[in-house]
Amino acid sequence: MKSRESEISENLRAVEARIAGALKESHRSREEITLIAVTKFFPRSDLEILYGLGLRNFGENRDQEGSAKAIELPTDISWHFQGQVQSKKIPSIIEWARVIHSLDSIDHAMKFNQRLKEMGQSREFFLQLNLEPDRTDRGGLPADQVEGFLDAAREFSQVKIVGLMSVPPLDKSPAQAFAEVASIAHRLELPSLSLGMSNDFEDAIMAGATHIRVGSSILGSRPTPA
Ligand SMILES: *Cc1c(COP(=O)(O)O)cnc(C)c1O
Repeated sequence: MKSRESEISENLRAVEARIAGALKESHRSREEITLIAVTKFFPRSDLEILYGLGLRNFGENRDQEGSAKAIELPTDISWHFQGQVQSKKIPSIIEWARVIHSLDSIDHAMKFNQRLKEMGQSREFFLQLNLEPDRTDRGGLPADQVEGFLDAAREFSQVKIVGLMSVPPLDKSPAQAFAEVASIAHRLELPSLSLGMSNDFEDAIMAGATHIRVGSSILGSRPTPA
């Protein structure tokens, strides 16, 4: 039987080959892309393997899980929070997450800012965009509210909004959805784009993604959450 380490290492190599293909086609370079290994629901032993393979960017969706893993793993890991934000979790999320990809409320931005000020720190945030406004269960702001949000968030000095994040809707091709997000980011002069998951990160890279969030292509199918 193949060891878990060789399985993950082969998967990672295959992901890097797919990244390389998309970079070649879009005349971009590897340094422009941050590969975030989405480790939600996977055990610490898998994260240790990823760490051993050189990965330093891990993505988690839940505060409790991310917080527990961050305590147990080496401190040079950058943790990315990409789940739906709940107000009461903000003080905890900010303790372990270095980048928040799923900001979608001005009230949350204010609370993050307050807490960060108390800590004398700042963090990078992606504003999550919802491309199917009829669906609110996955979070994100509709496109027509992004500009107003950015204006209002300007007073939150510790909340550095670096870009947009989005998950493509089912009724649109990922390439089309990513192009839409990229054009909004460009217009608003936001430099970073958190786009692309296991099934569509090539399209995301072609559209200009700077951060791709890849889980199952690296770690296999996810265990059911506890
Ligand atoms: C789970 C998740 C991912 C990773 O998805 P895969 O299809 O396993 O690559 C990326 N982004 C978000 C927001 C997620 O919730």
